[in-house]
Amino acid sequence: MNKAIIGGTGVNSLPNLKGPYTTITPHGNVETYRFTIKGEEILFLPRHGLNHTTPPHNIPYRANIYALKELGVSYIYALATSGSIHKEIPVGSIVVIDDFLDFTTNRVKTYFDGSDSVVAHCDMSDPYCSNLRKSFIQKANEKGIKIIPKGVYVCTDGPRFESKSEINMYKILKGDIVGMTGIPEVLLAKELGICYASIGLISNMACGVNDENLASIDHKNEIIQAKIDTIDIISDLFCSIELNQNRCECTTSVLYL
Ligand SMILES: [Zn+2]
Repeated sequence: MNKAIIGGTGVNSLPNLKGPYTTITPHGNVETYRFTIKGEEILFLPRHGLNHTTPPHNIPYRANIYALKELGVSYIYALATSGSIHKEIPVGSIVVIDDFLDFTTNRVKTYFDGSDSVVAHCDMSDPYCSNLRKSFIQKANEKGIKIIPKGVYVCTDGPRFESKSEINMYKILKGDIVGMTGIPEVLLAKELGICYASIGLISNMACGVNDENLASIDHKNEIIQAKIDTIDIISDLFCSIELNQNRCECTTSVLYL
């Protein structure tokens, strides 16, 4: 069991989950779940809790990724429910995130916090596993599911949405989609040598992109098909493709000085 899915808003649970199973870590206890497809057991970690009770700024990111590493996970697909900054990326789009812009300010973003006198730096030239991204794109193409093969994810603290001027700034900086949970998840996974990819599920257009009032939009129903398609792609490739960490740089990205 070395494969995991981290679920986000709108993907808090999956059919036939077993659990919870509690893992004790130095950063807190974590509850995970399991499901089986074609004999392959896959871990499921609902980022906001099974009942969606943990807001983005209170998620125990370090405990979550540490627990998955402890459980033997080498491959993670994370789902990131996001807003779109571009009209060309409509609600319901599935975006394979390939880079990020970090605008979070109040989160602990590293295991190398200096408490153990270790100085280390993590290479971010390919933050999202190139092999997992490629595998997802190939499997989506095989299944005839339309996806957007790359996109820059902007991460904010939340829980508020962004202002029109902020979205305009992100657009100028070449951001494509915006969410509140992708950082520090991707950073922590890379520090622990886990292959991590994140799939953006577009639930709404960001503020000012369209002439609609975010507060009046029911986000939940609009991503149902994207959620089903994405879980289908990941489950299928977790069962049918032999993953290998020699095909990417995820295990050699930490530089110790
Ligand atoms: Zn990798």
